[in-house]
Amino acid sequence: MGAVNTLELAQELYDLVGELYPVRRSLTGPGVRRTLEIVARYVPLDVVEVPSGTQVLDWTVPDEWELREGWIATTDGVRVVDTSATSLRVLGYSVPVHAVLRRDELLDHVHVDPAAPEHIPYRTAYYDRTWGFCLTQRERAALSDDRYEVRVDADRGPGHLIYGEVVLPGTSEAEVLLSTHVCHPELANDNCSGIAVLALLGRRLAARDRRLTYRLLFLPGTIGALAWLHANRARAGRIAHGLVVAGVGDPGPLTYQRTVHGAHPVDRAAAMVVPARGGSLLDFSPWGYDERQFNAPGFRLPVGRLSRTPHGTYPEYHTSADDLSFVQPASLLDSLTALEEILSILEGDATYRNLAPYGEPQLGRRGLYAGIGGERDQAEVKLALLWVLNQSDGTRSLLDVAQRSGLPFAAVAHAARLLLDAGLLERVERPQR
Ligand code: ZN
Repeated sequence: MGAVNTLELAQELYDLVGELYPVRRSLTGPGVRRTLEIVARYVPLDVVEVPSGTQVLDWTVPDEWELREGWIATTDGVRVVDTSATSLRVLGYSVPVHAVLRRDELLDHVHVDPAAPEHIPYRTAYYDRTWGFCLTQRERAALSDDRYEVRVDADRGPGHLIYGEVVLPGTSEAEVLLSTHVCHPELANDNCSGIAVLALLGRRLAARDRRLTYRLLFLPGTIGALAWLHANRARAGRIAHGLVVAGVGDPGPLTYQRTVHGAHPVDRAAAMVVPARGGSLLDFSPWGYDERQFNAPGFRLPVGRLSRTPHGTYPEYHTSADDLSFVQPASLLDSLTALEEILSILEGDATYRNLAPYGEPQLGRRGLYAGIGGERDQAEVKLALLWVLNQSDGTRSLLDVAQRSGLPFAAVAHAARLLLDAGLLERVERPQR
């Protein structure tokens, strides 16, 4: 890919984050629908609807919520806080209210973030019947009148939970699950970055030859993943590899969190890609995004997570400071590139058997030492040829060979192609390990 294309792609990712950012999303409601409409311009998206009240695994799908506006005003009608600039102002899933309250009654419903006092916190109450407002510390301190008028104009009642699903079939039924959450309001890194990167990744995968089948999920967090798992319980075993993509636009380095297995092929592929791009690897923790659901003991799907700065560890997290200035085009592009490198390792990983295993086959006679690139390249390819021949006894995959030899996966995969073309390898479909 040329430098100009790379810059264009980084800008396209950033522009998409910019389009998604002002959409007023919640767990359900018109914001999620609008978000999925935007994503559907990039990938062939199916929208799945699950009615409120449906039992999904141990949970119940909540009512649908739509916020029209919310404000706090003085008794002579001056609005001190309102939703005109951001829906973060209203506690997510607030029930409607219109009342004049004493100051102390109002303060019971005011949320601030002591760790980020100058920003508006993001708070929700999906499973409580309450209402609230989110303020900066200074705004809360300035509420000095005896009484205020408050209004939350919202609907909360039976409707649907919706999520988006895309299937890009490959020649194999083995699937790669790629998932991101679509349930946060005007927060740029914590949700728009993942949505944008996954939408453009999907468009690029759709244009490629694929061995693996790709399933992309755009889900409201937790309940959306549970609803998908509930509906797909019988077929979840097809998921061969998975990645949750979330928080991939901030300026920090990449972070990959391993699956609960810890050494699954997706973990090993990420370990070849992420540190080489300046990132780090974390062990699995049951605290995070929807990898928690996919890795639960009833499913144990091998789903890792790609992020940049881990959730909850940056001061902008879940506040109004997670805005468009916090997300960088170069970070979005770096995240997309890392994902594509991980997926290309998973695509290319295979197990072979050496068809001339009695000593080394004579490579020169087969033209395998000639015409294979520049000088340095050539030494690497030679070494890769010898490693692949030595290790291909039908039990070790190319990922094993790359890991043991320390050679780049691409060099090992290239050597395997050359040996396959020369009739020295055969592919083993069901390796005995
Ligand atoms: Zn979040």
